[in-house]
Order: sequence, then C-alpha cells, then structure tokens
Amino acid sequence: MEAKNNNGGNGGQDNDASELMAAIIAAQMGDSGSGPFSVYPETFSPNISCVDNSTPWTTSEAASALSSSCSNCGSASGENWVCLKTRKILCSRYVNGCAVAHFQQNPDSPIHLSVSDLSIWDHNMDAYLDVFAIEELKPAFEAFHMAKHGIEAVFHDRVGGEMGGLVEGMVIDMKGQDDDDDKKPAAK
Ligand SMILES: [Zn+2]
Repeated sequence: MEAKNNNGGNGGQDNDASELMAAIIAAQMGDSGSGPFSVYPETFSPNISCVDNSTPWTTSEAASALSSSCSNCGSASGENWVCLKTRKILCSRYVNGCAVAHFQQNPDSPIHLSVSDLSIWDHNMDAYLDVFAIEELKPAFEAFHMAKHGIEAVFHDRVGGEMGGLVEGMVIDMKGQDDDDDKKPAAK
C-alpha cells in the first residue's frame, strides 16, 4: 500500500481522495493484511470430470481411508486427503505434502477430499468445492460422512446469498455433532 502520510505539496486534496479510494478498495478486497481469509467454496469446477464414481464409494472403504496412513510416506498424522480420481490416501501440505505432490505429478487428479474434515479441495482452482452444489462430489462425501459420523449426510436446499456457499466444517456440523473444532482452516 502507499504511504499514509501526505507530505503536503501540490494536490493535497487529490492525494487525500486517492488515499481514501485506496482504503475503500483495500477494504472491499479484504486487503487489510490481518483479517481472516474468507472461504467461499466454488459451486462449479471445470475439473469435475476427474471425479471417478464408476466404482461405488462404500462406507467400509471410507472407514478404511479414515484410519489409513499416507500411502506415499506412511505418515499416520490423520491429516490426509483422498484423491477422488485415484482414491489414493495422501498427507496434507502440513505433513509431508504428498497430496500436493500427487496433483503435481498427476495434473488430471486435482480434486481431493479431506478425511479429517470432509472438505473438498480443487488444486487446479485453488479453491474449496461446494459439495451441496456439485452432484459429482456427493457419492464420496456421503460415504465418508457415514464412515465418520455414522449418519447419512443431509443435503439441504441451498440457502441464498453468500452464506449459501458452505465453508469447511459447516458441512459436517449440519449433522455431525462430535467433530473437533480445532481443525486448521485450510489443510489443503
Ligand atoms: Zn505423505
């Protein structure tokens, strides 16, 4: 950002006005430098065809994945992702980064589901995906929801407005009451 101080000189009023405008723009863009990063899951992904539902996602498969170690490095952190194309279980970037590496080595496999909080991340978009809005995500999500919480996921009608986009955790909190609330905001 530009320096706040205007050292006088010509066009002081113009500078004040431009500072004000810059501040407004910064506020609108969330460029405060300190505020939380807002996460609005995307309701469409151009990469969605990578999700392979040709083999049904089963609760037992999901349950196995929930307790699996990273298939690449063997980390048992629990901070794993499952690739929705290859179904590999891979650790997060906060562990050894095997999920990111999997995407980098397999660019056609960008969509991963977090086994720790059931959020779904699209590496190509660098964004979470809204399981409520994207049908292709539901089979895997439902299987993991059942495995994790022991109850079926309920897909309510979407609420209008910005809150219609579900953020990480909200999906689970709709039905599962036993989830930890200490998840990292973006274990992508
Ligand atoms: Zn790993």
